Amino acid sequence: MRKSLLLSVNVLCATVLAAQNPPAPPAPPAATQAKLSVHWEELTAADFKDAIGRAQGTCLLPFGIMEKHGPHLPLGNDLINVRYVAINAAQQEYAVVFPEYYFGQIFEAKHEPGTVAYSRGLQLQLLQETTDEMARNGCKKIIIVNGHGGNNSLLPFFAQSQLEMPHDYVVYVQSIARSAPGEPAHKSDRSTDMHAGESETSVSMIARPDLVHLDRARQESGADQARLKGLPEGLYTGIWWYARFPNHYAGEGAVASRELGQFEVKSWTDAIVQAIKAVKADAESLRLQTEFYERSKHPLDTPQ
Ligand SMILES: [Zn+2]
Repeated sequence: MRKSLLLSVNVLCATVLAAQNPPAPPAPPAATQAKLSVHWEELTAADFKDAIGRAQGTCLLPFGIMEKHGPHLPLGNDLINVRYVAINAAQQEYAVVFPEYYFGQIFEAKHEPGTVAYSRGLQLQLLQETTDEMARNGCKKIIIVNGHGGNNSLLPFFAQSQLEMPHDYVVYVQSIARSAPGEPAHKSDRSTDMHAGESETSVSMIARPDLVHLDRARQESGADQARLKGLPEGLYTGIWWYARFPNHYAGEGAVASRELGQFEVKSWTDAIVQAIKAVKADAESLRLQTEFYERSKHPLDTPQ
């Protein structure tokens, strides 16, 4: 009696459960199943293999930084913006995009809150080990997409130093490419529009408008303070940036616009798409690099 009551209760429960849980939805169409994320960290191990194949071994390493961006933009502005354009570009011309990377050159902002400035040696070692690990996983063509002006000397040096010893992969560097012919007129002086100014703020208004505090953009001056006037052009010293822009702000963020931002986001994205296509088609760089490594082992055999 008791057993059969339990059985009836179980049957009842199963019936109620079946009524509450509708049948599983139909399997997604093949096109959805075949869609691979461009984000390295979103892929399963098996999908990662397919992704590297689809990308023809071409991977992006968007490179940001953590630093003050005037009084009105977030610390991670460069990381956010460069990832926005790199991910959009990779979705147009498939490439695998490495996760967040912001371990670059930013000593000149160490006096400002929130700056993360790793030592010189670590920057180079971490970048080398990162590209080595990418290549070990099939990224034989790595495009470092720079999003931070303070890396403008570091990255070509890093790429050049790949000739120090043999690698089975090629490093390319795509610089910031916001400007293009046909650009809307700027409202501020372009020669000092360098950091959190009109151009960069406009891009942020497209990438993450919720993080742009345009109403605060005039709380500090982004004017050039020109405190090293005595030094001739062509003579470099590291304190130059602080001498000119001690607030870590160069330009006028307050005059930024979504119109300019849309144009500059498209220019930058298009430049990355072109870079991915060119890199996929490039067999010559690796061939010449390999030839060079071989010859560099015995320079006396190089015809003179
Ligand atoms: Zn920036």
